[in-house]
Amino acid sequence: MGLFTRGTGMGPSPIEGADLVLADLDGVVYRGRNAIPHAVESLRGIRARGLDVGYITNNAARTDEAVAEQLRGFGLDAEPRSVVTSPQAATTMLREHVAPGALVLVVGGEGIERELERAGYRITRSADDAPDAVMQGFARHVGWEHLAEAAFALARDIPWIATNQDWTIPVERGVAPGNGTLVSAVHTAVQKLPLVAGKPETPIFAEAVRRFGATAPIFVGDRLDTDIRGAAKAGMRSVLVLTGIDRAKQLIAAPPGDRADYIIGDLRGLEQPYPNIEIDARPERATARVGKAQVTVDGIDVRIDAPSRSNLDLLRAACAAIAASEKLIYALRVPERLYTEPEGGWI
Ligand SMILES: [Mg+2]
Repeated sequence: MGLFTRGTGMGPSPIEGADLVLADLDGVVYRGRNAIPHAVESLRGIRARGLDVGYITNNAARTDEAVAEQLRGFGLDAEPRSVVTSPQAATTMLREHVAPGALVLVVGGEGIERELERAGYRITRSADDAPDAVMQGFARHVGWEHLAEAAFALARDIPWIATNQDWTIPVERGVAPGNGTLVSAVHTAVQKLPLVAGKPETPIFAEAVRRFGATAPIFVGDRLDTDIRGAAKAGMRSVLVLTGIDRAKQLIAAPPGDRADYIIGDLRGLEQPYPNIEIDARPERATARVGKAQVTVDGIDVRIDAPSRSNLDLLRAACAAIAASEKLIYALRVPERLYTEPEGGWI
């Protein structure tokens, strides 16, 4: 296949036709205490167009008010209603199993307690009270005694709902065990599995869609195995933004269920025209063109046919060609340039 001097042209922006933009928080809107460059202006711009913006978080430790306040501190016009938390989705799930008024053993913090109380549930911390259900989410104080109470309560046949299953949680000093790890400790003791509300499971996405009454939502996240996989399972279009956890290396290696519909460098990309992707897939050779970038998977070789000044288009082309080849990444020889973080950032 020859080289092209003409690009593939531009199509609509990712948010064209959407009636709701749902954003993950960590790695998308902020990192630690700092807003991510261009995130705030971009989300404000989207709101100014009259589009709803919602925020989805698996973090069960904080209430919607606390998250909204933090977002307002960055200059976003977020209200508590704009924030969909995993305890909210977990409480909706709980209602399908036990009616309000029931007694719930809580492992976790204020984020869970507040939602259960709002919904009319009573709360206990002791298995001796014969609770009707167990809800488990992350809080920094959770220790062996709390996990043991959950295990004792779950010896009876009662519903067990986990807010989320994240194995790790990034904190200021490094990576620490997340709720999934703590749930796993209880699971080991009781040999049961919980129902899970948070990403990548669908209840939290359903909660958001219901709340905003959306018919064409789009989700933007920074992790393939929670954000992108969850959006796909929920039937939503998804955008991967390269400001958080997953980068070029993970994107080109993504299995089919974890592939985003759009890849952008920062949130400005939500409103910018997105390049068309042209694919030519044959049994032993798959080529993808994006803008002026062209990548071919030929046998086990991934080849850059045409580089581009846009390293973002090159990455999009690489992801599209590898996906079209239907080959496993482990079987392919990939040029280092395709998975190296570009020095000048994503353009
Ligand atoms: Mg994130």
